[in-house]
Parts: sequence; structure tokens; C-alpha cells
Amino acid sequence: MIELSAKQASDALERGDFSSRELFEAYRERAAADELNAFTWVADGPSDAEGVPLAVKDLFCTEGVPSQSGSKILEGYRPPYTATVVENIGAPLLGKTNQDEFAMGSSNENSAYGPVLNPWDRGRVPGGSSGGSAAAVAAGLAPWAIGTDTGGSIRQPAALCGIVGLKPTYGACSRYGMIAFASSLDQAGPFARDVTDAALLFSRMVGRDPCDSTSLEFPEPVGLPDAEHLDGIRLGVPSELSGEGIEPGVLDAFRETLALAEKLGASIEECSLPHAPHALSAYYVLAPAEASSNLARYDGVRYGLRRDGEDGLIAMYTQTRHDGFGPEVKRRILIGTYALSSGYYEAYYGRAQQVRTKIADDFRSVFERVDFIVTPTAPTVAFPLGDKVGDPLAMYLNDYCTVPMSLAGIPAISIPNGLSEGLPVGFQITGPAFSENRILDAAHALERAIGFDGSEARR
Ligand code: GLN
Repeated sequence: MIELSAKQASDALERGDFSSRELFEAYRERAAADELNAFTWVADGPSDAEGVPLAVKDLFCTEGVPSQSGSKILEGYRPPYTATVVENIGAPLLGKTNQDEFAMGSSNENSAYGPVLNPWDRGRVPGGSSGGSAAAVAAGLAPWAIGTDTGGSIRQPAALCGIVGLKPTYGACSRYGMIAFASSLDQAGPFARDVTDAALLFSRMVGRDPCDSTSLEFPEPVGLPDAEHLDGIRLGVPSELSGEGIEPGVLDAFRETLALAEKLGASIEECSLPHAPHALSAYYVLAPAEASSNLARYDGVRYGLRRDGEDGLIAMYTQTRHDGFGPEVKRRILIGTYALSSGYYEAYYGRAQQVRTKIADDFRSVFERVDFIVTPTAPTVAFPLGDKVGDPLAMYLNDYCTVPMSLAGIPAISIPNGLSEGLPVGFQITGPAFSENRILDAAHALERAIGFDGSEARR
């Protein structure tokens, strides 16, 4: 059962080859024996729901089940309702997955519940912030999972763990019940072993939600991809995101995949996203600014941790936030609060918004000439645990190739496209807003040609 893809398992359930309960139990046993620290909670018995079990990133609210967003400040918080996308999927809930605290990070080392280990090499990080979801799917502890991507947190861990991860168009999936990091960027999406599973899961996530005013009806049905060729498809390779700063082994895999794409009928052209090199700078003003506002609600009064003191209300707030937030979260709150303070607002936040607009314009003009933009997903393969914890700027560079799409609100997928030094590499395909069906088709054709084998990580 474990070797079946989610689509195959779902077909087998329909045929009656085994029951939902048997499938759930097979995965539940594996998840309960997890040695990667991928889960923060695992179901302790059978589920009432039917279908292929789902692992859910900790930050999605799930009724009565711990939802802590990787933070100590939400320790033991059990929400009274379930996030819309989790409701929409309607699958048996296998477990909640570990993540960087409030989704801030690229290595899962910022979790209050300890780091997640990469199933390909347990001395290395799985990527982040949705590292638990990625590691669980790659290791076959879950058939599929959901995560969130604010600046790369689905695509980068998918790349580092050798699986498929899709960041949808902003608004395609409801954010209701997602514990917020940066609301103008946060977007839920699927992790899966292959592109077909990613499409199937995504098709169950989309839709407008009256509880999220930024959500939109997906303009067409989400189908299962079937393309085997890329005839007539024009792929743009932005010079800014495919050269300097990318590890040689990652670039080799990237070039090999471009050659495969050409064999499948695609044409490759160089293009330019002139403002993309400024995306990280803009992101690290905008995301912390929104985070500082979103995280103001954790004051010890309404949820989770509370540190009472002798000295009254302000001391209670201060001590709760001091003890409850980890160092990266505090860093972001400080940066964000500073960037939004009067006198600096225009210089930082206003300026970053202008850069964001320029980045979105760059994409729009390139998509007049090409169908998709392709890049490596992450500049490196999975790095050793502890390697970058002391250097936040080096850590932020993990998202160099993924943050521009987040700022532009457009969809992008990462598919595994080979190994470098025995570790998985990811290939990113980006298209205009709501082009997910076409992206999934192109990814499907490439996936067949690449023939990546992820079974090693499931042993
Ligand atoms: N690594 C980026 C950050 O730390 C992106 C995280 C995310 O997408 N949630 O903010």
C-alpha cells in the first residue's frame, strides 16, 4: 500500500482492494514510528473520514487537534474550527507536521519542537518552512500532505526532499484557518510524490471562500495532467535566477532538464527579470511588516502560553512574548515594527511595495513572449543541520529563486529533476496567474522524461 501513489491508492480504494481503514492504519503505524521528527501530532486511532490519509502542516487549524504553528506560544492550542482547505479536502487526518515557527525559515531549524531530518540524509535539513510535510511525504510516512508557501516554503522543501510541491496563485486556496505569517503572501498548496497526485490534491483545495475575502473561484476545473510532450511550449530562462549563486551541481541538473525539455518539443529562450535580484530585500521588509502586525495577537490573553507575573498586565504581555517566541520570530517582529514605524514607513514599507509592483510587471512582460519561466528551485541541495543557523542572511538566500513569484502572486511548481552529490535537486516552472492546469501539464511531461526515482527515501 505504501508504494502506491495517492491516485493509485484512491483508485484501489474505489475498487475495494483494501479499505480506508486499512490504508489509514498502514500509514498511521509508519507516522507513529517517525524518526525524522516530521510530525508534531499523529492520530492515535482510526479516522471516520474515508479516502487517502492526509498530513497537514501544523499551522492549519484543525478542530480539537493541536495547531501550534511550530511555536511555543501556541503550545497545546486546540482550535474550535478547521481551516477551509482541510475541510475542502475532507481526507482522514493522519497527523500534523512540524514546521519552522510561524513558517519563518528555510531549514525547519526554527521550530520550537526541534528540527526535522531529511530522509535522504539525516544529517541534513529537509528545507522549510514546511519541512515536516515534505519529509513525511518523501519518506513515505504520508501519501501526500499540505503546506504553505509565503516565499518558498512549499517549493524549497519539496526540492530538498525530492518530491513535488505546488505554490498556487494567490487567492486560489482559502487562507481561512491558516495561522497567519504574511497575509498578502501566504498560500496553501500540495506536497506529493508525483505531479498527478499534486494535481488531484490541488483540485480539492481550490475555491472561493466567504470567510477569506482574498480568495477567488478558480476560473476552470482543475484536471489531471496528461501531457507527454511540450510541442510549441516556449520556456524562458531568466539570467538573474539561473547563474550566479547557484551551486554547480544544481546548475548541471537544470541544464540537463532544459535539454530534455527541448527534446520534448519546447523552445528555450533567455529572458530577463531585471528587478528579481531585489525580491529578497523587498520580501524581508514586507513579510516581517505583516508578521509584526499578525503576531500582535499573541499576548497571553486569548491563546496558548501565558506567563503571569506580579507586575500587572504589561509585564504579563512582555513575559509571555519573551518566553513564547523564538529568536527568528523576534527578529522579524523587530524588523517589521521598525519598518512600519512613522517616519520610516515610506522609506521601507512603501519602497518595498514599489519594488513588488516592478517585479510583478517584469513577469507580465516576459509572459507576453513565453509560456513559462523556469529556474532551479533552490540554489543548493539540502545542507547539513546547523550549517546556516548562525547566519540569517545566508539562510535567506535559500529563497532567492522562489520569492519573486510569491511577491507577484503567481503559481509555481517544483519537481525533482535529478540528484547532485546523491541529494535531490528541484526544477521550478512558473506561469501567469491561474495557469496551474498548464503548469501541471508541462510538469507532467517533464516528470515522465526525467524519470526521477524517490523510492530510496522511503526505505
Ligand atoms: N524562508 C522564507 C522565510 O523565512 C519563506 C518562508 C515561507 O515561505 N513561509 O520567510
